[in-house]
Amino acid sequence: MSEAQCLFCRIASGEIPATVVFEDEHVLAFRDIDPKAPTHILVIPRNHVTSLATAQAGHGDLLGRILLTAAELARAEGIAENGYRTVLNTGADGGQSVHHLHLHLLGGRAMGWPPG
Ligand code: AMP
Repeated sequence: MSEAQCLFCRIASGEIPATVVFEDEHVLAFRDIDPKAPTHILVIPRNHVTSLATAQAGHGDLLGRILLTAAELARAEGIAENGYRTVLNTGADGGQSVHHLHLHLLGGRAMGWPPG
């Protein structure tokens, strides 16, 4: 799929609306359209990266920003004290359905383990 057709690139450009909760020049965070927990936010890089499997050493700073954004949003959502789950689904067996790297921030309820 080309980046022009990528769903999350289109959300990052503003072409497709989303409930954005944070954005800066590097990352965008918006509420998942089909939430799996009371808080379910996706944190993505603005620029297209297909998955963690295709990330390069040069993406290290960006990946750190994504994680730290999730931690800050967890505090803002009031779920940091009780805890939360951060998930990066990668590839077919990982359950990745949108091929633009995204971190799931899930919280507001107790999570099970192991994941399905
Ligand atoms: P994954 O299965 O890890 O690739 O996660 C993709 C996530 O994107 C799923 O949780 C979907 O509910 C979510 N999603 C799909 N389309 C949209 C959209 N237009 N706005 C917000 N979230 C979406």
